[in-house]
Amino acid sequence: MKAIRRFTVRTVLPEPLRQLEELVLNLRWSWHHETLDLFRAVDPELWRSVGHDPVRLLGEVAPERLERLAGDRRFLRRLQDTAEDLHDYLTAPRWYQTRYGAGAASSPAAPPGAGEPAGAPSSIAYFSPEYGITAALPQYSGGLGILAGDHLKTASDLGVPLIGVGLLYRHGYFSQSLSPDGWQLERYPPIDPNGLPLALLREHDGTPVRVTIGMPHGHDLHAQVWLARVGRVPQLLLDSDVEENDQSMRDVTDRLYGGGGDHRLLQEMLLGIGGVRAIRAYGRITGHPAPEVFHTNEGHAGFLGLERIRELVSEYGLTFDEALEATRAGTVFTTHTPVPAGIDRFPRELIEKYFGGASEEPDVPCERVLALGSEDYPGGDRTVFNMAVMGMRLAQRVNGVSELHGRVSREMFGGLWGGFDTSEVPIGSITNGVHAGTWVAREILELAAREVPSVIESASGWEGVRHVREDEIWRVRRLLRERLVHDARRRLRESWRQRGASEAEISWIDDALDPDVLTIGFARRVPSYKRLTLMMSDPDRLRSILLDPDRPVQIVIAGKAHPADEGGKRLIQEIVRFAGSEDVRHRIVFLPDYDMALGQLLVQGCDVWMNNPLRPLEACGTSGMKAALNGGLNLSIRDGWWDEWYDGQNGWSIPSADGLATPDRRDELEAAALYELIEDHVAVTFYDRDAAGLPRHWLEMVKHTIATLGPKVLATRMVRDYVEEYYAPAAASARAMAADKHAGARSLAAWKRRVADAWPGVAVEHVESNAEDSPHVGGRLAVRVVVDLGGLDPADVAVEVAYGRVDDADALVDPAYAELAAGEPVENGRLRYVGEVPLERSGSFGYSVRVVPNHPMLSGRAELGLVALPPAPAGMTNGNLR
Ligand SMILES: *Cc1c(COP(=O)(O)O)cnc(C)c1O
Repeated sequence: MKAIRRFTVRTVLPEPLRQLEELVLNLRWSWHHETLDLFRAVDPELWRSVGHDPVRLLGEVAPERLERLAGDRRFLRRLQDTAEDLHDYLTAPRWYQTRYGAGAASSPAAPPGAGEPAGAPSSIAYFSPEYGITAALPQYSGGLGILAGDHLKTASDLGVPLIGVGLLYRHGYFSQSLSPDGWQLERYPPIDPNGLPLALLREHDGTPVRVTIGMPHGHDLHAQVWLARVGRVPQLLLDSDVEENDQSMRDVTDRLYGGGGDHRLLQEMLLGIGGVRAIRAYGRITGHPAPEVFHTNEGHAGFLGLERIRELVSEYGLTFDEALEATRAGTVFTTHTPVPAGIDRFPRELIEKYFGGASEEPDVPCERVLALGSEDYPGGDRTVFNMAVMGMRLAQRVNGVSELHGRVSREMFGGLWGGFDTSEVPIGSITNGVHAGTWVAREILELAAREVPSVIESASGWEGVRHVREDEIWRVRRLLRERLVHDARRRLRESWRQRGASEAEISWIDDALDPDVLTIGFARRVPSYKRLTLMMSDPDRLRSILLDPDRPVQIVIAGKAHPADEGGKRLIQEIVRFAGSEDVRHRIVFLPDYDMALGQLLVQGCDVWMNNPLRPLEACGTSGMKAALNGGLNLSIRDGWWDEWYDGQNGWSIPSADGLATPDRRDELEAAALYELIEDHVAVTFYDRDAAGLPRHWLEMVKHTIATLGPKVLATRMVRDYVEEYYAPAAASARAMAADKHAGARSLAAWKRRVADAWPGVAVEHVESNAEDSPHVGGRLAVRVVVDLGGLDPADVAVEVAYGRVDDADALVDPAYAELAAGEPVENGRLRYVGEVPLERSGSFGYSVRVVPNHPMLSGRAELGLVALPPAPAGMTNGNLR
């Protein structure tokens, strides 16, 4: 008979071992080797068989074994030490406290109006639909989730007062296996929250907290809240599988990115709206300070802004517009993909169904909700509701995840700030990073720790890595390669058995892969832009590379296709079939079920990390960073982070035919370049050995990579950047809005309305300059402008001259801006503005002028998307400056 419900009965630990439970319940173990060592010591055999999952370990360990440990003085001492270490980790001041003062993050927020407007936020809420913390919590599908997990862990390491918010999926993301003919099969193993390191959030009287969202059909959506601890960071996970819900509502959190339409929208409503409510409950119960900054990791959580607007309208009597200003000021939105399919868009009717009619919140009118997500700009689709667009309108600060992705996003979303040059679109960038404790092999960390004082926290000082002896690096690199080879064989055997192969048929696996052969890794999700099968464009060429008698190459591949992506599954099948051919199967393998555990093995064990996306569709990519930290060299198209940090010595760049060729031709050109690089450069360098058998040049590249990329690709650099460039300024803006009973928000909203209403009357009427009087380098350009302010005050606007180099079409290239000073009133209420700019470089030069709104609480010139330009391009001079 099938059980109708499964649950896990937790072991009651003998008193002396009680601290084991504390250690298990804090996910710090997922990146803390000493704690993992301790778990292993509980029962080494069992530790292996439960797949290094400490909750299962404690659930399954024999009572006699526990009794014995409870009397084992050495074990108890170790337990005590480890528990104390955790306690220190959780309480000692860290980077954030040093940077912003000892009180940072431990005292509640200053009451509105009382504190300094500057200073670090006392709490930051981080919302993400998925989190990759450990393979034992399969609540992630790919890069977005892994990044979110690394963000929480790093915030914890740095003492940044983050609180994470997400959903708990009862089936998580699927685990992948293969059919006999190489087709991807998906399994969604149910998870039982009681079998995970989670605790139910309860009221003081012990009843579980309920978060409720009204639904149009009357069957409201209820959720309970699980609390995880990621080091110092609490994480709240909403779970709709509760008895009060009817079946359809129970299924809202059934699986990660399960369905489309209603299901997806309900998940996002629960994450955004329910997430804010869960934070409020958590604050009420534990005294945790209310977040001053809300960070939306991709558009999925965007509804959090609506809930905060609702709170402000209903609790403080603000208007919608005033509440919008207050909310925007404290919101950071990170966009993660330039691939249109990666952006959530819902039919407008679906939004009307859940935010209009009977379920309309009077304080959050449906028509305002629709306007926030509307693509009402040239090229937009008016029938859809776009979550990324809403995210940008609800956040004063927006960023992409690499410099290149920032540029691509400014172009992609530029329509929201019509009238401004792409370079002025207010989308910045912070390049992603990875959490060293999670991704770097212990052996590498230990090697580096000898030369670099604080590997994890140090943003510089990695130069010391250059002092590590080359034979030592080579020894560790071989060890990691060998570990990968052994584990890959185990995984291959398991997969072939599952596919129905007999023992005799799989005996070849004993010799599959070779711990001394150059190993290339390629692991990623399988959307088409990642081009899983590019390496197979010319199978014969690939075969000859793999089987080269002098310089053989082996390739280890992994990746999951989205369950609905038949095309992706066909690519996997193609690879699996090729990798099954008798002549090459010992040199190329596909390992099923790419997850964090397999990811760790691969990024640590591979010599080269290959990536060949269609530029510029990879927003950042992080697996190559993990490889680099482990001494792997990247072989990649210059996309995402690699575009920024490839320096000619830290790996190889595959030339991209981006924009130069048809898609097929492009694949062909890029594949040919890839083969050539592998044969003529990668393999040659790897196999070029000195008398001691060491590949000197290769090892120089490895050292150079760790020393120079190390500090950049670390998530500590990323989280610091977020704190300094986004969180602290956002907290200051939010405080300025909230101070004095939200006077700031009220006045900014009123000002924006007044400026928007008057803007059609704002005009640049007349421009003149001395550009005709033989300009020369070192001279100055004097500009005089007459402007009609349409009834606005001079203080409401800035009148600027834009100047600099011009291209052949008379467009200013990366112009500089200088503000002109308001001078005499001229007739009819017009104002004259005057100023000068320096002529610093010879060559073609041009200028123009513009009027833009100006207010101290704006994040930049383009925030309102309003600009008044001269009727015709003014004052262009194309003469060459002398
Ligand atoms: C790091 C990682 C990713 C993201 O890597 P990309 O380079 O962005 O493709 C995806 N899945 C797993 C399991 C990872 O460890």
